[in-house]
Amino acid sequence: MLPRRRLELPPTAGLPLRWSDLRPGGATLAADITAQLGTPPLQLECSGTASLLIALKTLHRRQPHRHRVVVPAYTCPLVAIAVRQAGLQLQLCDLRHGHYDMDTSALRSVSDERTLAIIPTHLGGRVADVAAAVNVAREVGAYVIEDAAQALGARRDGGSVGLLGDVGFFSLAAGKGLSIYEGGLLLTRDPLLREQLVHMSASLTRDRIDWEARRSIELLGYAALYRPAGLRLAYGNPLRRALRRHDPVSAVGDDFPLTIPLHRVGHWRQAVGAHAAARLPAFVEQLSIQARRRLRRLQQIDGIQILDDPPGGSGTWPFLMLLLPAEAQRDRALVQLWQAGLGVSRLFIHALPDYDYLAEIVPTEAVPNAGDFAARSLTVSNSPWVTDEDFETICGVLEATSD
Ligand SMILES: *Cc1c(COP(=O)(O)O)cnc(C)c1O
Repeated sequence: MLPRRRLELPPTAGLPLRWSDLRPGGATLAADITAQLGTPPLQLECSGTASLLIALKTLHRRQPHRHRVVVPAYTCPLVAIAVRQAGLQLQLCDLRHGHYDMDTSALRSVSDERTLAIIPTHLGGRVADVAAAVNVAREVGAYVIEDAAQALGARRDGGSVGLLGDVGFFSLAAGKGLSIYEGGLLLTRDPLLREQLVHMSASLTRDRIDWEARRSIELLGYAALYRPAGLRLAYGNPLRRALRRHDPVSAVGDDFPLTIPLHRVGHWRQAVGAHAAARLPAFVEQLSIQARRRLRRLQQIDGIQILDDPPGGSGTWPFLMLLLPAEAQRDRALVQLWQAGLGVSRLFIHALPDYDYLAEIVPTEAVPNAGDFAARSLTVSNSPWVTDEDFETICGVLEATSD
């Protein structure tokens, strides 16, 4: 194992907050990001999951006889939790082998007149094949919701992701690019649907001083500790404790409560987000340049597959997502790297059916390509705090374990 460092690098490239972001200001977060992205008006919610839940309930009201929601079998467990909380049924779709997109023929075979929505996912900031999902959805009369939780700022053919489907959503959770500790943004190009999303949100959410106080304190903690000197306390030590207990699910924070809170985001957190958002476009650009450079270095390592965007896609780069030739090699690399404080980690630990705690929500189904993706993937942080020297250390371990 590599020696542990005093400084700890984050597993994803969150936009660091500055103390000056914490000053009071206007609650213009959603409007400011709308202007940056050049999209129709964004709707602020208390999390990405809450945004998805509101989208699902809105669409279900339009098509009440449809109950099924098709999701990639390798995605954030919160997606499954939102489907359950919306009173709907989860339908898994396996991935394309060695890829984050759903397999199109599998998607066609699981979609039918019972399908309410299909959720293509811009996993890890990579641009997903939304057009394929839209084609299948049209054939069966279903909606498409783009999960762009990790992809705020990602573009396809010059425009923001999230607009090709019927609804899209972004996450503002800790560690996901721009963060107000927990938050989400809903997006649609259809004015009538936008009105219905606003109404659904108004009926499901209210001001909750208890939740807002908690999130405000958490945001202060995030501002204080989301830096290499603080992340050891906030991230590295809990990670290593969980790994010592052989609990990778809690090590990466995949263990979510089965019910999510619904409330409104308070004025102060919106102002903090608006201040930080002014730096977002330049940050996304900086990460993209760094990722391109580092991808070229990784491509020199035998056997490693790097997940990149399709033509016309220009995603966000919170981390670099790699597939190693086999699980054993991936695990050998992680023995060296996961606890080293260098920002190497795993995305979601399992395919959805393999989380014990989701057994009540997720159907048991064979999804071999999703399982394979979980077994062979690892992530290398694209945080600007990962120096070229750190990155070279990581590449050295990957080279040594790929022999
Ligand atoms: C994080 C995430 C979500 C949920 O967003 P929150 O803001 O954390 O509720 C949904 N889908 C994907 C792919 C995610 O990574």
